[in-house]
Amino acid sequence: MDGMELPAIRSTCAYCGVGCGVLLRPDGQGGALVTGDPDHPANFGRLCSKGSALGETLGLEGRLLRPRIGADDTDWDTALDLVATRFADTIAEHGPDSVAFYVSGQLLTEDYYVANKLMKGFIGSANIDTNSRLCMASTVAGQRRAFGTDTVPGTYEDLEEADLIVLVGSNLAWCHPVLHQRILAAQALRPEMKLVVVDPRRTVSCDGADLHLMLESGSDVALFNGLLNEIDRRGAADEAYLRHVTGAAEAFGAAAEADLSVTGLAPEDLAAFYDLWIGTKKVVTIFSQGVNQSSSGSDKVNAILNCHLATGRIGTPGCGPFSVTGQPNAMGGREVGGLANMLACHLDIENPDHRGAVRDFWSAPRMPEAQGAKAVEMFRRVATGEIKALWIIHTNPAVSMPDADAVRDAIAGCDFTVVSDVTARNDTAQLADVLLPAAAWGEKDGTVTNSDRTISRQRAVLPPPGEALPDWQILAEVARRMGWAEAFDYSGPSEIFREFAALSGIAASFGKDFDISALSDLSDTGYRNLAPVRWPVSAARQGGRFFGDGRFFHPGGKARMLPLAYRPPAARTAPRYPFRFNTGRIRDQWHTMTRTALAPRLSAHLPEPFLEIHPEDARRLGIGARDLVSVRSPQGGAILRARITDAVKPGDVFAPIHWTAQTAPSGRIDALVPGITDPVSGQPESKAAVVAVEKFDAG
Ligand code: SF4
Repeated sequence: MDGMELPAIRSTCAYCGVGCGVLLRPDGQGGALVTGDPDHPANFGRLCSKGSALGETLGLEGRLLRPRIGADDTDWDTALDLVATRFADTIAEHGPDSVAFYVSGQLLTEDYYVANKLMKGFIGSANIDTNSRLCMASTVAGQRRAFGTDTVPGTYEDLEEADLIVLVGSNLAWCHPVLHQRILAAQALRPEMKLVVVDPRRTVSCDGADLHLMLESGSDVALFNGLLNEIDRRGAADEAYLRHVTGAAEAFGAAAEADLSVTGLAPEDLAAFYDLWIGTKKVVTIFSQGVNQSSSGSDKVNAILNCHLATGRIGTPGCGPFSVTGQPNAMGGREVGGLANMLACHLDIENPDHRGAVRDFWSAPRMPEAQGAKAVEMFRRVATGEIKALWIIHTNPAVSMPDADAVRDAIAGCDFTVVSDVTARNDTAQLADVLLPAAAWGEKDGTVTNSDRTISRQRAVLPPPGEALPDWQILAEVARRMGWAEAFDYSGPSEIFREFAALSGIAASFGKDFDISALSDLSDTGYRNLAPVRWPVSAARQGGRFFGDGRFFHPGGKARMLPLAYRPPAARTAPRYPFRFNTGRIRDQWHTMTRTALAPRLSAHLPEPFLEIHPEDARRLGIGARDLVSVRSPQGGAILRARITDAVKPGDVFAPIHWTAQTAPSGRIDALVPGITDPVSGQPESKAAVVAVEKFDAG
């Protein structure tokens, strides 16, 4: 290729749910150059700091290259035989629910599909859950309650066409930077476009906002119930639309409890927000972890959806509620049913017809009739010994789960733990009985789905190092050894994708939204060349928005508005734990830093864990700038560097989630967060723990 540009391979960024397209060019030295794909509809060539540093994370430092049993390297056959035998023996002795898979939104759709098929259809348990439970389960629950299925109504273009963007519990500028860039670019062309941020913390996303509502943590339901009341009071509900889509003629705003004092917001700020929202026809309400990671997360989602349904601001250009997913394939995990409460293709686990259809399609020996253990509950059952064999795939729950110390102890005490990962260095891998080397981003082929339902290909640019294998293949090998060779006899990801696409056609026949059946006869070449495509992809319908025709997915094509009551965060501040503890991400790190820590320039942004604390609180506690502080909750403790800032309210503190026992032993944040969950979605309340703070005394 001397004198010629190396051919680029089109793939998708490894990080957030924006799902940016990347161009990969092998550098000839075992790495690759990464640039934004100008033709990808998510980013049109843009990349954020994390995406543009991907090429620096492709080295082999810390890679797991061979299977291990305990501390000893072994061969694949020995490791896989042991995994299959221990799982089969455990199931034979204690039943299917004595085993579990805990997987990840980092998995490709094809890997996820195989894991879900093995657990639900062949092992016969619904004990498969995912770290996406920590990310967007409340959105799934809220959308299913309102729309009848887990449907993201809009598209990224709606964000650019809106006249008002409301960011709720979303630091979009740092957590979904390219979407934020798209909004800013649209705003530069149309300065009349307004931006409101609803967040108890002032983040970079508030720069340039027309209004920042620094509300009390967890009071979103009251804020949006108040908006619904105001819509009702002003006669701003679209009654004809409401009658058509819900069968009711009123927005029942007056029935929605709305004691606005719990928001802590000034009446003039509330009025300004309500005026803007009601007075603007094209509104997109973007929401993320500040909404989802709450013991009332599902209600928060429905409070937002209520307002869009009541006014018909949904399904049309520049309008709609819009959830942004955290992980690169959180959406794909939802589509394949990689959650303990769902079947593949958005089918319902409680519905015997759906179960029967999936079972027949897979020629499966069994199918669970009830939901399995969601993430927090799963590790509780590991701790009690109810779950005796656990397979953790591409995630680090010993750090990232709430009550992380208890989760770490549960994994350590589990009879048999398998970990598939790219590294042996993370906190969870170090607890494994069997470690399986998996192919990493850049080494594997498959698909992912981003936040606006666009399916993109991920393509390998490098060969897997050592003996690492793709996840679908590891799972299929274990299935084969457990006696299900025929059902898992895949030649590659394209064959898995075709099977998945064919199953979606069956789901569509039950009236489900997820339908990619037009891709079920895609050739290998077609799969290899598949361009980004937004679902649905069927003979009847291709991409676009949902609900523009006023048809939803509850019986009769209806939507549902839910009457909701505000509930405060479950953990209450008290003299012993007087601070409200918020957690989140920073711009240049991702999750527990397994990949981002490999790029030195990313670590230069914010190099150590910290605690944001208001100047008044710092003064009262004798804490100076850059002092170390001790933070304690009923669950655990951390020692962090103080950052004194009025970006947090008095009584609130904030810390980023990324550091681990490997990178900052004193700074593990999720050890402080209780395992309190939303009763509907099972998502943990990661942003409203209670803590005590004091200056750290090294003596
Ligand atoms: Fe990757 Fe998200 Fe950044 Fe896009 S915005 S480059 S998907 S991390």
